Amino acid sequence: MTLNRRQFVGTGVAAITALGLPRMALAAESADVVIIGAGLSGLHSAELLTEQGLKVIVLDANNRVGGRVQTVQTSEGMIDVGASQVGRGYARVIDACQRYGLKLISEDRDLLAFGTHFSGQWIDNKAWDANPLNLCVGDERKIAPSLMGQQLAAKYNPLQELDDWLDPRFAEYDISLRELLKRKGHSAQAIELAAYSAPGIGIDETSVLRMWQEEVRGRFERRMVEAASQTEQGPKRDHPFGEANDHSSVNGLSAINNIVGGTSALPKAMAAKLGDRIRLGKRAMTIALSDKGGTVTCSDGSVFNGRFLISAIPFSMLREVEITGTANPVMRQAITTMPYANTARMYVTVERPFWKDDGLPPSITTDGPMGMFWAIDNHTGEGAHRGMFVLVGRTAQAISALDRAEAEAMLLAELARLRPASKGAVRVATWKDWLRDPLQRGCGFSLAPGQVNAFARDMTKPWQVMHFAGEHTRRNDYGMESAMESGERVAIEILERTA
Ligand SMILES: Cc1cc2nc3c(=O)[nH]c(=O)nc-3n(C[C@H](O)[C@H](O)[C@H](O)COP(=O)(O)OP(=O)(O)OC[C@H]3O[C@@H](n4cnc5c(N)ncnc54)[C@H](O)[C@@H]3O)c2cc1C
Repeated sequence: MTLNRRQFVGTGVAAITALGLPRMALAAESADVVIIGAGLSGLHSAELLTEQGLKVIVLDANNRVGGRVQTVQTSEGMIDVGASQVGRGYARVIDACQRYGLKLISEDRDLLAFGTHFSGQWIDNKAWDANPLNLCVGDERKIAPSLMGQQLAAKYNPLQELDDWLDPRFAEYDISLRELLKRKGHSAQAIELAAYSAPGIGIDETSVLRMWQEEVRGRFERRMVEAASQTEQGPKRDHPFGEANDHSSVNGLSAINNIVGGTSALPKAMAAKLGDRIRLGKRAMTIALSDKGGTVTCSDGSVFNGRFLISAIPFSMLREVEITGTANPVMRQAITTMPYANTARMYVTVERPFWKDDGLPPSITTDGPMGMFWAIDNHTGEGAHRGMFVLVGRTAQAISALDRAEAEAMLLAELARLRPASKGAVRVATWKDWLRDPLQRGCGFSLAPGQVNAFARDMTKPWQVMHFAGEHTRRNDYGMESAMESGERVAIEILERTA
């Protein structure tokens, strides 16, 4: 692409004076584009804009790049406490891995069979239909308690295309899952059970359209797997989260892949190429917008002027930044009210397979505060296994009231209460609660009932010279690929304005 951009850089003092910025700004650094946030979205927009010859500066408050991509070194080895799964349909992520020479391998996180602990009892999912605790009616009786939310949400999903969730034709579904299930005549128990595996924050807090966006994207991913491997990948799992991998290799890729050396290798490689354009320890505190440019002031007093700005930080963080410019009620509402879901996980080593002692299934879903325990297959059956306590939805929100030591103690005690055989068999490797991360305040964006209609369609439109990237501004994709999708969109938006 040939760019006919205005020569903003180099006009320095003149441009700043023309913008009417305060004297202090004369010492500021200037760039064509100042990007706030060095997660995958900010880094990808930076690499695309740099390739097109624009001067870019990327600011991140942290002392590392990657944001929700975070590989940590533990006594049990390297662990990805953020994103780890790269789907076969992740075109941009896979392309980036190839460009940077990063190797992808089939994910080795096969989960061992699940048991359900519900209402103080162990439930045999296969015999749940006849269990006296089952107060559901009709077909709902056959759905295992831990799968109710996901299966009922998926059952009524009318969306076909990736961006249908934003199509006003489906505006009537901008309601909670509880409201949908009531309208469909489901029993009180089915609705309550749905709360345990409802996607998003929960059965009341999340718009069904937001849930369906990921469900439709997941369908496309599964279709790709089926077409490639010619195997059937039905929803035959006995647990609500943690995709099952199809290890058969097609063009060197399995259904789910991991980046060798940990996922952080990708943002690190992107940042290395961007060199000194990346500025760490720069926390944006104020953003001043005009129609001609924007100024970002950081907590250390440093100032950066851009002809354009990109906000590539979650709205959970942007709402802490003071933004001045022309009034923009829709963006203000989006920034200040968009809810964030949480995921908290404790990564453990199971030194001895305690399920062989008590005869219960190794993995567990519960309606208690522990959420889920995933036992990971070590392919030998004997010796140590990896394991994870996985908290999502209500349990994840609740555990954030505890600090790390309290959370670890609570989870181990709860496991020991349900499975006395586990006492002394579990060693903690690391713990991550994304709601307590001061630079994230959540694991991923959500939209409350009514918010798709209120602002989701418009929240990617620029606010004067500030454009919006980040997984929360996705249109079609999910996970890391949605961060890359947004980085690409925002780069194109700016290139069009500079052409
Ligand atoms: C536990 C977990 C598991 C996941 N698993 C997967 C998975 O397996 N596969 C998958 O595809 N996706 C997964 N994801 C999702 C994926 O990690 C995200 O979608 C993606 O990394 C988001 O990238 P981003 O650029 O939008 O935001 P972020 O990565 O959040 O980047 C935002 C950056 O902004 C910085 N920042 C914040 N405030 C400021 C400020 N005021 N000034 C300057 N900088 C600031 C932060 O430090 C951060 O670096 C997972 C996420 C989590 C939390």
